[in-house]
Amino acid sequence: MPKYNFSLQHPLANVQTTYSGFDAPICGLDCGQKCAPFNPSGKPFCCDICHAVPAVYREEWDYLQPNTDLWHAWRGDECQSAAPGERADLLASTPENMLLLACLGPAACQRPYRALSCRQFPFFPYVTSDYRFLGLAYDWEFESVCWVISNLNQVTATYRQQFVETHDRLFAFSQEAFDSYQLHSERMRAHFLDQRRRIPLIHRDGGFYLVSPGSERLRRADAHHLPRFGPYR
Ligand code: SF4
Ligand code: SF4
Repeated sequence: MPKYNFSLQHPLANVQTTYSGFDAPICGLDCGQKCAPFNPSGKPFCCDICHAVPAVYREEWDYLQPNTDLWHAWRGDECQSAAPGERADLLASTPENMLLLACLGPAACQRPYRALSCRQFPFFPYVTSDYRFLGLAYDWEFESVCWVISNLNQVTATYRQQFVETHDRLFAFSQEAFDSYQLHSERMRAHFLDQRRRIPLIHRDGGFYLVSPGSERLRRADAHHLPRFGPYR
């Protein structure tokens, strides 16, 4: 059984401590080297502003601003190939308690100052329709580009444990954060139902499952035989 250290403090009251507790690499190799060759920009997809715009909690921004020059508030002109209207859509879909940033890019990344959204990518906390945080599901929009999504068996137990612990603490204090992930999980179920596919899930206690998006029933899965996508097939 993992031992969780439930602090009585809101995780965003001390961002530095929260970052330190969620610092484990996602897997035993540099996954950026696996995906970057497939991106015309040569950058890992999650560090390329044309593919992902990081959203941070306002408390993170309050911490980051005086401590690092890594980030600036996202202007919307950082990606030359952005479609018209994309900026307005992204801003409209950003929750009130968050804001969008852009960083100096992967060549100038400062690991201690990566945002929570960098640390959790490509995952989000999967929440059932009866409000249980079950484990890690991935952001399906990145299926065809993110190497990790095609190699879930490479995700380490330490990373999973830190992901779960960080979000358990966050949810203990923020109903808003929990609700937004519940809604995101609902969207994922609708998307997978539409495509008649099951949702791959890394369970919070370990183990890999496929979740039926309709009944939400779990079926144990062999981690080595989970679906692969795009160039990682
Ligand atoms: S998390 Fe995915 S997109 Fe980001 S560097 Fe790793 S493989 Fe690439
Ligand atoms: S801060 Fe680092 S990990 Fe986060 S998006 Fe920028 S380059 Fe990538």
